Amino acid sequence: MSLRIPGPTPCPDSVLKAMSKQMINHRGKEFGELMTRATARLQEMFQTKGDVFILTSSGTGGMEASIVNTMSPGDKVLSLSNGVFGDRYATIAERFGADVTRVKFDWGTAVDPDAANKALKADPKIKVVLVTHNETSTGVTNDLKAIASIVRKHDKLLLVDAISSLGCIDLQVDSWGCDVVVTGSQKGWMVPPGLAFVSFSQRAWQAHQAAKMPRFYWDFTLAGNFLQKKQTPWTPAVSIFYALDVALAMMLEEGMQNIFARHARLGQKTRDGMKSLGLKLYAADEKCASNTVTAVNAPNGIDAKRIQEVMRDEHGIVISGGQSTLAGKIFRIGHLGCVSDSDIDDLIRELRLALPKVGYAVPA
Ligand SMILES: *Cc1c(COP(=O)(O)O)cnc(C)c1O
Repeated sequence: MSLRIPGPTPCPDSVLKAMSKQMINHRGKEFGELMTRATARLQEMFQTKGDVFILTSSGTGGMEASIVNTMSPGDKVLSLSNGVFGDRYATIAERFGADVTRVKFDWGTAVDPDAANKALKADPKIKVVLVTHNETSTGVTNDLKAIASIVRKHDKLLLVDAISSLGCIDLQVDSWGCDVVVTGSQKGWMVPPGLAFVSFSQRAWQAHQAAKMPRFYWDFTLAGNFLQKKQTPWTPAVSIFYALDVALAMMLEEGMQNIFARHARLGQKTRDGMKSLGLKLYAADEKCASNTVTAVNAPNGIDAKRIQEVMRDEHGIVISGGQSTLAGKIFRIGHLGCVSDSDIDDLIRELRLALPKVGYAVPA
């Protein structure tokens, strides 16, 4: 069975093998060295000289940590959302008492940086901006560089959900001026679920001094103090750290620019493949189509769930469905992390065979 969903993604054998090692003392020298090495390599991948925390949680935990460590209840927040995950970020902030202005963009389209500019001009009391770099629910990548430059111009704090883009698509944390950037181990990192990585800028540390939202497990004052000691405040997912160590070595060996180029090439190959089957991409404007996940409209009258079923049961390939209101209407293909040209060739070939079984005639 091959897994072509946007996380968890398949792990290389060497990454899986690393996890079968015996436990070590998480307060000992060996773990300290592992954590220091992983943190330095993550800083390289985040393109930052700022702090990067490795949290034991899924990506959503990292999103929550980014909020509770930088805000107080009542703080004004601007949410720029074009999908399920953008909405989730806003909801987390609201749940902790932030006063969130939600600016929404049609699903399948990108966040418009000009709209962000207008919203920030309209309400100078806004302190923080939330945005998703790569909206996994719709297969759209937002122009984070342009959004960040507007947020910098207004001198606000910028929090970014880059869970399904970092490590695959260029994201220059320091030079673009992103304050807090979140990702998760099971997406582009070729590592099982269980760790979130969060970068934290100097501006974020300043905001942290005044931030009064309740936090215990996620407290970055503690995480920062323990980082100095090469430890985490709480018992980390040691086995996933083993996996991460091997995966990061592989990624730096391949080279960041080569990884970005591979994802760009495979993203294009996937989109071209879908079009060759006569299918329409959910992101109508291909300029904003994601290089890590492709969302495809199910052909008229066909339930996307049926396509998923046939692909899984008869062709051995697991793809994702649509989330929320897109359930049954789209299917999604993950092409991030450990993925090659032949994986995408296989997928397109099998989809060509599967579609007629659900009543769709593939054009010759
Ligand atoms: C996967 C994903 C999440 C959620 O991450 P979990 O690890 O499931 O908590 C959030 N945002 C985006 C953009 C994602 O792709």
